Amino acid sequence: MINAQNLRQEFPILNQIVNDEPLVYLDNAATTQKPDAVLQALTDYYHQNNANVHRGVHTLAERATHDYEASREKVRRFIHAKETAEVLFTRGTTTGLNWVSRSFGDAFVQEGDEIVISYMEHHSNIIPWQQLATRKKAKLKYIALTPEGFLDMEDAKRQITDKTALVSVAHASNVLGVINPIKELAELAHAHDAVMVVDGAQAVPHMPVDVQALDADFYAFSAHKMCGPTGMGILYGKRKWLEQMEPVEFGGEMIDFVHLYESTWKELPWKFEAGTPNIADAIGLGAAVDYLEALGMQEIHDYEASLVAYVLPKLQAIEGLTVYGPQNPDDHTGVIAFNLDGIHPHDVATALDMEGVAVRAGHHCAQPLLNYLDVPATARASFYIYNTKEDADRLVEAIQATKEFFKHGTI
Ligand code: PMP
Repeated sequence: MINAQNLRQEFPILNQIVNDEPLVYLDNAATTQKPDAVLQALTDYYHQNNANVHRGVHTLAERATHDYEASREKVRRFIHAKETAEVLFTRGTTTGLNWVSRSFGDAFVQEGDEIVISYMEHHSNIIPWQQLATRKKAKLKYIALTPEGFLDMEDAKRQITDKTALVSVAHASNVLGVINPIKELAELAHAHDAVMVVDGAQAVPHMPVDVQALDADFYAFSAHKMCGPTGMGILYGKRKWLEQMEPVEFGGEMIDFVHLYESTWKELPWKFEAGTPNIADAIGLGAAVDYLEALGMQEIHDYEASLVAYVLPKLQAIEGLTVYGPQNPDDHTGVIAFNLDGIHPHDVATALDMEGVAVRAGHHCAQPLLNYLDVPATARASFYIYNTKEDADRLVEAIQATKEFFKHGTI
């Protein structure tokens, strides 16, 4: 089992006082903190190896290229992709989903086709499909949710038909704390000759992911939500699709030959990576993968589940507090969206911050979901490997204090 108390020593940022209280960081669904090992990898790169990749023959360029490509191999192994040619480096989940919408969408989605997503998607898994639907005169459709907040698989079977070109769903929700049955959805999609796109931003950091076992055609995620740097992401795609797709950006690094009026592209994965890439952060991502693998993804999942089993009943026991999504801790990930009766979630988050507890409030980039739930906004606490039961207690105490404050006007 993970020893969070020990792990915390490796995350210097956690050891600080905020508003006179020791920091309790519970905004991990927005971004996670970085361990020393990742910070060290970034510093080492800039101290010793900084050079441009792929083109140079000098020693630093060779080192930088080696480390950059070694990170790609680490990611391949981490998500069980067949080959590194299928692992594209991006800026984040958003970029990955936009690339699929642009490149796959422009090549394969036709007028009258249908694109199926769900009501629980993050804006970055909605807007690229709205744009594609408009460009191609395709139709965007939504899979309904059950009253508990699960994906309604009966509705999925109705929405996904022979007209469907593409299904795109989050592996784990950033609001409802549910994990979606991607393998089943992929089977459904493939039975109708549609491709399965997965927004893995909230899944890869928290559980073992095997893109081949899921049979995902595309799978996008972000480094910064898994102890890695910002500005770095991954798009996995099956070779058979990537080979048929055009790059989204053009320029240096991605070319084979450039003639006056036409050019040819490098092989996969480089044909998608125009310009000088984010070398340092790719190497930082590799260090994050090493870090998480050393802890063990199943252990990470089990540890977070133990925190949820501890904190969820305590939250549910607070009078006037509503938890969104499934009520059974076994069905709930470490993302817990909630509201306190009569108090705006922004006020809740501000009051919790006064107690040193960092949570998020707002629509969580999921406005269609919040409309669907008929709530304008929620507060959200989200847990990760370095959070402890003490952090959970501090959250519960701070919520109690917030309730008292709004009842009596003092905290
Ligand atoms: N999808 C989900 C489910 C997310 O939680 C997020 C991040 N909030 C994203 C996509 C977008 O990730 P990024 O901003 O790193 O591109």
